[in-house]
Amino acid sequence: MRVGLDLDFAAAVLGRGRLVALPTETVYGLGADATNDEAVARLYAAKGRPTFNPLIAHVKDVEAAGALVEVDARAQALMERFWPGPLTLVLPRRAGCEVSLLASAGLSTLAIRAPAHPFMQGVLKTFGRPIVAPSANLSGRVSPTCAEHVRQDFGDACADLEYVVDGGDCALGIESTVVSIDDDGVRLLRPGAVTRAALQTVVKLVDGFVNGPDDALGHASPGLSRSHYAPSLPVRLNAREARPFEALLAFGDVDPTGFAEVFWLSREGSLVEAAARLFQGLRRLDHAPLLGIAVSTIPEEGLGEAIVDRLRRAAADRD
Ligand code: AMP
Ligand code: MG
Repeated sequence: MRVGLDLDFAAAVLGRGRLVALPTETVYGLGADATNDEAVARLYAAKGRPTFNPLIAHVKDVEAAGALVEVDARAQALMERFWPGPLTLVLPRRAGCEVSLLASAGLSTLAIRAPAHPFMQGVLKTFGRPIVAPSANLSGRVSPTCAEHVRQDFGDACADLEYVVDGGDCALGIESTVVSIDDDGVRLLRPGAVTRAALQTVVKLVDGFVNGPDDALGHASPGLSRSHYAPSLPVRLNAREARPFEALLAFGDVDPTGFAEVFWLSREGSLVEAAARLFQGLRRLDHAPLLGIAVSTIPEEGLGEAIVDRLRRAAADRD
């Protein structure tokens, strides 16, 4: 991996679907092209998380956000007051939103933020597309606030992380505040650099977190929330033989004979490709007159763990 401060090189690496560690005013982010499913899958693989946590899409400004999500009056007011800056808004994805469904972990919402850091702003302008950038640490490690932390976590072991931008120490060093905005109101999902009191000068907050915190930093766990996308058809894992009117999410060297419809997650058995195509596949097969979605066996190693975790939830979210 290279270390430096070259805007055009950073944008070029992102354009090739590879990863760049980027400084923001909160913490260092592991950046990928938000519109490229495979780049997002590589990012999840690099982080080594056993589940797909939805990611924050970083954009230049309010206008760029408006192309991706529904911005109502409350969202507009918060953006005008706190952007660019450490406030993330979870908003409904617009029809035709170009951000990968994998980045939303299959949810119908997208977390979005305009960062203030001048290098990050520069990359967003040069690259011209939204960038997903979760904290640039391995799962379970603390968030990095300088380039050296990123190098300590990833070393040279992660081939997809081609460039670490050294933009000095992060000004804030704690993550962005995350709020969701929907019919229930504006809700604090994760405390962060923008305080509750500051938010309340602009909007009324409804009490409490949506979900219990799921880690030391109090990150909410949207994977458990009721709004999580689950197909309406039943999902059956480790399927071998077809049942009547069943579709197959196929992986690797399997024989799809007998299934009413087939969507290949990856013919070559690539977990990166399978992750990239997972949510598209679930949506594609979730229709009448099909009666169920069968899934071939997927190895629970590396990214496979997150893929199978997501499929298990889809299979369990029945009742
Ligand atoms: P990080 O980028 O690592 O600082 O973490 C992103 C945070 O945003 C996590 O707490 C996610 O759970 C949260 N988040 C991202 N997208 C969504 C979403 N669509 N709904 C709810 N929370 C989200
Ligand atoms: Mg993090």
